[in-house]
Amino acid sequence: MVELERYLRPHWGYIFLTMAIKLLATGMELFIPDLMEIILDEKVPAGELSQIYLYGGAMLLCAAACLGGNVLANRMSAVSSGRITRAIRHDLFWKLETLSARQLDRLTVPSAESRLTSDTYNINQLLARFQRIGVRAPILLVGGVFMTLRMDAPLALVLLSLLPIIAVVVYFVTKTSVPLYTRQQSVLDGVVRVVQENITGIRVIKALSKTDYEKARFHAVNEELTEVDQKAGMISSITNPTATLTLNLGLTLVVVVGAFRVNSGACLSGVVVAFLQYFTMILNAMLGITRIFVMWSKGEASAKRVAQVLAEPEDLTELPSGETPEQVPQPVPHIEFQDVTFSYTGVGENISHLSFALERGQTLGILGPTGSGKSTVLSLLLRQYDPDSGRVLIDGQDIRSIPSEALRKKFGVAFQNDFITEGTVGGNIRFFRDLSGEAVSRAAEDAQAMAFIREKEDGMDSEVMVRGNNLSGGQKQRLLIARALAGNPEILILDDASSALDYATDARLRRRLRESYRDVTTVVVAQRISSLRHADLILVLSDGKVIGAGRHEDLMADCQEYRLIAQTQMGEGREGA
Ligand code: ATP
Ligand code: MG
Repeated sequence: MVELERYLRPHWGYIFLTMAIKLLATGMELFIPDLMEIILDEKVPAGELSQIYLYGGAMLLCAAACLGGNVLANRMSAVSSGRITRAIRHDLFWKLETLSARQLDRLTVPSAESRLTSDTYNINQLLARFQRIGVRAPILLVGGVFMTLRMDAPLALVLLSLLPIIAVVVYFVTKTSVPLYTRQQSVLDGVVRVVQENITGIRVIKALSKTDYEKARFHAVNEELTEVDQKAGMISSITNPTATLTLNLGLTLVVVVGAFRVNSGACLSGVVVAFLQYFTMILNAMLGITRIFVMWSKGEASAKRVAQVLAEPEDLTELPSGETPEQVPQPVPHIEFQDVTFSYTGVGENISHLSFALERGQTLGILGPTGSGKSTVLSLLLRQYDPDSGRVLIDGQDIRSIPSEALRKKFGVAFQNDFITEGTVGGNIRFFRDLSGEAVSRAAEDAQAMAFIREKEDGMDSEVMVRGNNLSGGQKQRLLIARALAGNPEILILDDASSALDYATDARLRRRLRESYRDVTTVVVAQRISSLRHADLILVLSDGKVIGAGRHEDLMADCQEYRLIAQTQMGEGREGA
């Protein structure tokens, strides 16, 4: 929790107040058996009825104060821990949003999700319950021991002799459960990961009959989680009976030893009755302390996982802009890659020595088999990753020295598997930007989406379900393209964005992009030659290397791979005009 101290700081005062109220309430609780002992041993034998009422009233008052104080303190602890966790969750969410793609790769999305949900929940539980049991249990323990020692020291020793047994139990539970909870959290990450991959990929998994494989994969993580849970269950199956046994053993001993002492006149019978109550309190306090240890270890592990993310340094920092655009000798290409090499993991190169230049308004087409690095080129251009060597320039300026906000504004992007949000058609195109209805309609028109939007009853206001489940693949793609166009971008990026469109629609889209977006520099990744054949430059990638570069005609003449792809696609349908 040390790492998250700064979130507690503003609430210390309130927390102390909560604890003080808890302290008072617990103190009141400790007096109840003592008062009862006085009634039983002094007031009843003396037959002082008014005194009995007086002490009985005092017992009632103590009980009421104890109840009221506990309720109040528990409510207050819920308030402060809720506020603290809200702040942590808020910052964690923002931090996750700002992590670079590389940092997120390392963290993994399921782990990020469970840190945001179950880990912050554990922290919340620790904070709330620590303010409750954390104060109450130690006070009941120490106070109970003190009260019994004061009442009858020899009888208290009987009780104290049992404490080592409980201490051993507490030690055992803490020692075994701490590593267990840390493991439980990471195993849970694994379960979330498998489930998430399955839900998102469920159609593909079914289509490829991978269900058995996926079932086996789920079975493995499920087994592991069960094993961890079983171990945790075993620990509590030892603790609870041991505690009950010790309690009953203690109660019996107190009664037996107490009986002898009462008989011999060494103590009064009320003391024995009070002892039985104190002993129950002390034992529950010990169990409470066990729970604090467990909670602490769970919360501590979670706090570490959260703090680890919060402490991630800022990746993709901005370089000092050595040369402002004005100082750059004109003219410069709009987009330029200079000998760019990049690897995701540091093992092997995903992009090797890539160089090309594009003038403003030109179109770059990228073609290549899956995994050849097409999307990676786009990621580098968008600065989701920084190259390991070489430079990416826009208007002659290294993109690392362009403020991220300004850089992002330049792009309109439609990704391979971009997400459609729940809401309306228009809302998906607007995508939380301040765009006029006219801009949205024009983008939809240009993206060839208007035809199907008009067919819908509510047009732009038609409902879109989660993940766009009520839209076809081609309709989704057209919405995404419209979204990319609507922001009036300087650079348009289409990653396999029209693969689900029929040839005729795709051709209309290309024509529209050429005619109405003359000044927009476009980068198109596509599998179909017809989608790229008009590009000013086509790069053929294989394994991160350029194996062909030029216009369609040049490549048909010089690049065997390109020619082969073109020939296999010839029969597929009418090529784009
Ligand atoms: P496709 O046509 O299937 O979209 P692509 O040409 O776009 O393929 P990329 O996504 O650029 O391929 O991937 C290039 C290589 O980099 C692949 O071998 C892929 O496994 C690897 N790769 C992609 N993303 C990551 C990542 N986040 N971490 C590690 N490796 C990655
Ligand atoms: Mg790709």
